[in-house]
Amino acid sequence: MKPYVEMSKEELTAEYEALKASYQSYVDRHLSLNMARGKPGSDQLDLSRGMLDVINSASDLTASDGTDARNYGCLDGLPEAKKLLGDMMDSDPEDVIVYGNSSLNIMYDQIARSYTFGVMGNTPWCQLDGPVKWLCPVPGYDRHFGITEFFGIEMINIPMHEDGPDMDAVEAFVKDPAVKGIWCVPKYSNPGGVVYSDEVIDRFAHLQPAAKDFRIYWDNAYCIHHLYEEIDIPDILKACKEAGHPDLVYKFGSTSKITFPGAGIAALATSPNNKKDILNQMKHQTIGHDKLNQLRHVRFFGDLNGLKEHMKKHADLIRPKFEAVEKTLNEQLGGLEVGTWTNPKGGYFISFTGLDGTAQEIVAKMKEAGVVMTGAGATYPYHKDPHDSNIRIAPTLPPLDEIALAAEIFATVVKLVSAEKLLAQK
Ligand code: PMP
Repeated sequence: MKPYVEMSKEELTAEYEALKASYQSYVDRHLSLNMARGKPGSDQLDLSRGMLDVINSASDLTASDGTDARNYGCLDGLPEAKKLLGDMMDSDPEDVIVYGNSSLNIMYDQIARSYTFGVMGNTPWCQLDGPVKWLCPVPGYDRHFGITEFFGIEMINIPMHEDGPDMDAVEAFVKDPAVKGIWCVPKYSNPGGVVYSDEVIDRFAHLQPAAKDFRIYWDNAYCIHHLYEEIDIPDILKACKEAGHPDLVYKFGSTSKITFPGAGIAALATSPNNKKDILNQMKHQTIGHDKLNQLRHVRFFGDLNGLKEHMKKHADLIRPKFEAVEKTLNEQLGGLEVGTWTNPKGGYFISFTGLDGTAQEIVAKMKEAGVVMTGAGATYPYHKDPHDSNIRIAPTLPPLDEIALAAEIFATVVKLVSAEKLLAQK
């Protein structure tokens, strides 16, 4: 089929009428499907059931350094947990703090501490005269933007390219001392699946922000979440050290999408100065996190290789779902010039970009047909997509047959809404 823009009014009207009929046939089925959140499917969760058996009432719960994991203490985590998560996050165990169950929680805490107590002796942000500003590569992760919005931080959109954020823009904006941070998901970004290039990472390591308390929030949530072969990126912390800016970055990671979201373990890796600064505050907050869960993870996986083997099983379960969506989009939308989409090599999302001014309508029509999608605009700060064109597709949760059907409906809706829009312009 030729591109919609090249069709005559008559051709496009005929196409539109046919689409309306097939859309109505989906609506009449009263479906209830969900492609909204990046949650693992229950078959993925089953992969980690065995972790619940590795410690029981008969287990020795002594850690490698003699710590009794049942008791208080060990503020930065058990040594073997720091090693496991350090290896996963490409970090020296000594640079790691193992926390509780959520990396998002750590990010929130870092910002809250920066507001109330300041970063390494700098003025707490709550005492600054002007606004705090933050760089947000877009499209990006809605919950990141939710945190910075909640703190009243002024968010600045940074365009995302195929190799990472627009570094010319980043380098220009960090000259403003009010800019205190940037959200980064360097591997298989949410939602674009972008993997930052070596050059982008090098430019991050060489950033010269005006604010001494500027930090890169390097959320490597999908560091070992490959769909195909492993992709490695340079370690930002090492690069920052080599560039003479060791304190520039906080790295985050968790096992949420490795074991159980909400019941995994999360970690932060950073320079010794930053780590000391954080622990000095954290010691007033907790006596230590859940070390039994740390032990459970370590004993279940053993080492990084164990983690990697486990991730291959995840990939085998979710790869067909990604491929089903991509196949349908290719077959149904290929050549029509009504949208583009990513073909991620890992992570949890496909990012779809339709014609300007269509995303809200597409998501609304999907809902009418019984398919819940991530809200249009969610991938932008303040939920404001300037082009109203980006939609995040999350294919992991529903079973394969449901995801295939949801993708069919999505393609129909994209065509319907695009045809309607283009007809109005003819
Ligand atoms: N960061 C990113 C980029 C994510 O996509 C997610 C989950 N959707 C999280 C963090 C949440 O991580 P956690 O469960 O460790 O809080």
